[in-house]
Amino acid sequence: MVVEKYDIVIVGGGPAGLSAAYAAAKFNARAILFEKDASIAHNIRTSGVTWIEEIEKLGISRDHYNPIKNYSFISPSNEVNIRGNDATACVLDVRSVYQHLAFLAAEAGSEIMVKSNVINVVINSNNRISGLKIRTPKGDMMINCDLVIDASGFHSFIARKIGMVNEWKRYGLGAEYECYCENVDSETLVFMVGGEYSDAGYAWIFPLSKKRIRIGVGIGRPESNADPLEKLNSIIEKKLKPLDKIGKVQPIEFHSGIIPNEGIRKSTVSDGLILVGDSAGQANPLVLEGIRYAIEFGRLAGEVGAKSLAQNSKRESLLEYEKIWKNKVESKINSALKVQSKWIGLDDKKWDKEIEILKDMSQEEFLDFIKAEFTASKMLKLALNHPKLAARQLFNIVLRH
Ligand SMILES: Cc1cc2nc3c(=O)[nH]c(=O)nc-3n(C[C@H](O)[C@H](O)[C@H](O)COP(=O)(O)OP(=O)(O)OC[C@H]3O[C@@H](n4cnc5c(N)ncnc54)[C@H](O)[C@@H]3O)c2cc1C
Repeated sequence: MVVEKYDIVIVGGGPAGLSAAYAAAKFNARAILFEKDASIAHNIRTSGVTWIEEIEKLGISRDHYNPIKNYSFISPSNEVNIRGNDATACVLDVRSVYQHLAFLAAEAGSEIMVKSNVINVVINSNNRISGLKIRTPKGDMMINCDLVIDASGFHSFIARKIGMVNEWKRYGLGAEYECYCENVDSETLVFMVGGEYSDAGYAWIFPLSKKRIRIGVGIGRPESNADPLEKLNSIIEKKLKPLDKIGKVQPIEFHSGIIPNEGIRKSTVSDGLILVGDSAGQANPLVLEGIRYAIEFGRLAGEVGAKSLAQNSKRESLLEYEKIWKNKVESKINSALKVQSKWIGLDDKKWDKEIEILKDMSQEEFLDFIKAEFTASKMLKLALNHPKLAARQLFNIVLRH
């Protein structure tokens, strides 16, 4: 068996792992990334909606996304449309973004091996990871290393193998088709709520161009046992609104994914190990949003990891990573979970009333809301500006309980 030595091994070629590989190499570490699928972004596990300002700051340019100005919320007997003057959100061409991230990592000097499944972890006498076993097209390999970055997504493969974390118990399951579509408004995101769409979550239509859309369904476990693919097929077959207005819909690609939905991992570093991306619970579960965080915190993990090599990548030398990312998202994720726990149990009638909350918001308030920017001062302003019951209730959920 081939045995080699690297400074840093990154497990998983999603946005978190690719960004970690890029930064690790940029900060002079000898880095290698393993991805079990046949190519980067071979299996798409995401819908790709994000925010233009934030994603451009991360170097993802206009070539990689479709800009979005408007938002539409559809419940069984209600509809709220929010129109903007400027594009604020976007739908990413996920495959082109992830492959761009892979090019950046390669250019910085990281190695990447696709179709290479990390299958085991080697622990040394000090009880820390000293190497990984990988099944590759060239045969099995053993890589010895100083630091492992677990960017394996939902399953936190490495951290679970060594007993550092358990399998997530609460999660969202998504099924989505990328489709040809005859007649779609390419500047509007559509969210659909109520039992026919999802009994514990929501459905969506995200346009990539005038003729290309993603239609999907997300369902929360353990609240529901429903199969998101069955729901998705039924929405398309029954042409539930707004599909009745968009002409022929022809699926051309299927995507599915799982997103953790119980808050962050308490600990995301240990001697010789960093968890990043969904493996660490860094996505915001309310709006299923994790890509920009995976890129940002992936780069942070790679940088802190490379700098920690001089201190033998001891836990203490990695804590800065955990401090920075928690400071940025922990409280937002906690607030989002509280809002979600209210929404997840709503029936159709309550949804019809609940989406009214969005009608009176200004564009700025709405964007904070949909980005799950639930800071105390923003929520206070919202409650003061909108004395209506719904806004007050939201304020109470986020800040009081
Ligand atoms: C249905 C759904 C819709 C979503 N929509 C959005 C959205 O619109 N916008 C948004 O920002 N976020 C969205 N998210 C969340 C977003 O997709 C995640 O937060 C993001 O993908 C996390 O990136 P990651 O790199 O941590 O993990 P992943 O993207 O899951 O990447 C992990 C990679 O590791 C590889 N891997 C796993 N185990 C091994 C192993 N043992 N050996 C080698 N390779 C391995 C996998 O093959 C995979 O490529 C959505 C999630 C779901 C489930």
